[in-house]
Amino acid sequence: MKLDNLTNRLSELKIEYAKSESMSRHTTFKIGGNADVLIKIKSVSELKQVISITNELEVPRFILGKGSNLLVSDSGIEGAVISLQGIDGIEINGDTIVCGAGASLRSVCIAAQKASLSGLEFAYGIPGTVGGALYMNAGAYGGEMSQVVASATAVDADGNEVKLELSDMKLGYRTSVFKNSNLTITSINMKLQKGDCTEIKNAMDDFFSRRRDKQPLEYPSAGSTFKRPEGYFAGALVEQNNLKGVSVGGAQVSEKHAGFVINTGNATCNDVLSLIEKIKDTVKSADGVDLEPEVIFVGRK
Ligand SMILES: Cc1cc2nc3c(=O)[nH]c(=O)nc-3n(C[C@H](O)[C@H](O)[C@H](O)COP(=O)(O)OP(=O)(O)OC[C@H]3O[C@@H](n4cnc5c(N)ncnc54)[C@H](O)[C@@H]3O)c2cc1C
Repeated sequence: MKLDNLTNRLSELKIEYAKSESMSRHTTFKIGGNADVLIKIKSVSELKQVISITNELEVPRFILGKGSNLLVSDSGIEGAVISLQGIDGIEINGDTIVCGAGASLRSVCIAAQKASLSGLEFAYGIPGTVGGALYMNAGAYGGEMSQVVASATAVDADGNEVKLELSDMKLGYRTSVFKNSNLTITSINMKLQKGDCTEIKNAMDDFFSRRRDKQPLEYPSAGSTFKRPEGYFAGALVEQNNLKGVSVGGAQVSEKHAGFVINTGNATCNDVLSLIEKIKDTVKSADGVDLEPEVIFVGRK
């Protein structure tokens, strides 16, 4: 009933949505049951309307980037899943880039490179949106979002716009203030440095080929399964414990990179969760290290 009310209101406002949408189509793991309603926002004003309606109807919300760090429950996600990929503008002004939170990190990296702006080379090859990258403080090869972001705008749980400076965002290793807030990031302002467009391209190509050589990009995954524990590398701990190639159902510890759990074709969320537990238990008893998932579990328990 609530959901019918929601979809009726969305239809009246001409906001795009799909009912009972399989989340396996919206995650890089290609795993997940149905979102009750997936809403495709195209502007900040649509986002505010959706926040207001879902508040009024008491429908839970989940903000989706490109689903590249998500493990979605086989029983799906209750309520409204809001995709921001339609808020994807990219503007360059001198050494500043302002982009919509739904812009792909890849397009922003390419735009920076073409404008001879250096700083985002590390991010080339990290899948996802810029909003997702800021939420996760995504990073690689010694770089992370905290080094390039200057400020951001977000919409709070009541639909009010909020501006955050870098210091407000509490960016740390794969974490940010956004993890414990109801803020939806809508735009990100990045400050880069003038550089040489060919050197920037070469660095991006180099990082990308290192990924292709080391990571199992030929299989669906959500990237590194675990965060790096203090003083260790998660992949090395998994490998030392002979877990490479170990599988539960269709979920497998990659033979190519032990830090990745991959979907070999028909993995369920429960397969991945059981494999994660098995890895954690093995590493804890052999090395006394608690592995913490980097991948975020979402949806019905
Ligand atoms: C092959 C592969 C390689 C990877 N390599 C790396 C790597 O090198 N470094 C790294 O850090 N990560 C890596 N990842 C993980 C992933 O790409 C990043 O975490 C990415 O930043 C997630 O972005 P996303 O848009 O897909 O977010 P999603 O996975 O869709 O969401 C992640 C979280 O962010 C929240 N979120 C997304 N957008 C917003 C928004 N606008 N406002 C508020 N909350 C939001 C979501 O609610 C969710 O909680 C890799 C993943 C894959 C599949």
